[in-house]
Amino acid sequence: MFKTRITEMLGIEYPIMLAPMQWLSRAELVSAASNAGGLGIIASLTFPTVEELRQEIRKTKSMTDKPFAVNVTLLPTVRAVNYEEYFSVAVEEGVNIIEISGRSPEPYMKLLKDAKVKILHRATRVRDIKTAERVGVDAVTIDGFPAAGHPGMDDVATIVLIPIAVDAVKIPVVAAGGIADARGFIAALALGAEGVLMGTRFMASKESPMHPKLKEWLLQLGETDTMMIQRSIKNAERAVKTEYTQKILEMEEKGATLEELLPLISGEKGKAAYASGDASDAVISVGQVVGLIHEIPSVREIIESMVSEAKLIAQRLHNIGIFA
Ligand code: NAD
Repeated sequence: MFKTRITEMLGIEYPIMLAPMQWLSRAELVSAASNAGGLGIIASLTFPTVEELRQEIRKTKSMTDKPFAVNVTLLPTVRAVNYEEYFSVAVEEGVNIIEISGRSPEPYMKLLKDAKVKILHRATRVRDIKTAERVGVDAVTIDGFPAAGHPGMDDVATIVLIPIAVDAVKIPVVAAGGIADARGFIAALALGAEGVLMGTRFMASKESPMHPKLKEWLLQLGETDTMMIQRSIKNAERAVKTEYTQKILEMEEKGATLEELLPLISGEKGKAAYASGDASDAVISVGQVVGLIHEIPSVREIIESMVSEAKLIAQRLHNIGIFA
């Protein structure tokens, strides 16, 4: 059950992917997702040098013999990044699934095609997944408005975006943004997606390398406890609504420049908060699904319960048909 073109293409048991969350999607979490039958994706920009990425890929391989992927995000960054080096190290280390997000994959297609890897592209707009299909990626993921991280500037709800995306391309579509349990999983499949990608759900997992105080904090948050910042710099980000993020938004409304905002939104602050458990001066990005998360299970428990509960939902829907 739940075999799709995504499970076939990637050689995984369930079409459930761990999002490449900056600082968090490292060997422990990635290998846990892959060992549980899903697909773990390493967030490569977590590593300031490509040699550190190389070591993390090797560590991940020592923790799982199942497929895993490496993501390279092409969004603007504070530090200059030589993206080609990141792709090259992943390929050299034998990673055979690469996810590209944030900008068109076109400049890197030759490098990746020559390496014969499966290429996934994640975007927030239908026109971008069409471009990705045209330049030859194997599958796309589309992030809807409830997503954590950078859900784009168009604010289109996942339930609308997925079927439009599915109609727009022939390659498989993976749904992201608003999925945290079996209900979201089945809904995404019903909309035509062939897999789901989740970040926030796995943030609050046993293997997530985030301070336990922050995991407990996430459990207290509801679906209205996130907000959008960084629209003024055309790089919208969904984050937990706190005094700190409200201050950032106020600065944006008063016309703060990119240079004035960068010290506050720097990823280094998030990294420090994940380690210390103190999120009072950091942007912590979570999706609206945080309101659905009430416990901190293992990654395997998350994936297995999604699959078993999804089977029950599928059965219930089938039964409605029988008794109608
Ligand atoms: P960082 O410290 O380099 O930058 C902090 C934030 O400022 C990020 O949102 C970044 O995109 C933004 N930013 C930096 N320079 C900018 C510019 N010139 N114009 C507009 N926005 C700018 O980032 P980090 O936290 O170390 O993350 C590394 C990379 O991973 C970034 O590209 C970040 O956006 C990305 N990321 C992506 C997601 C996602 O949902 N795809 C989630 C987390 C991080």
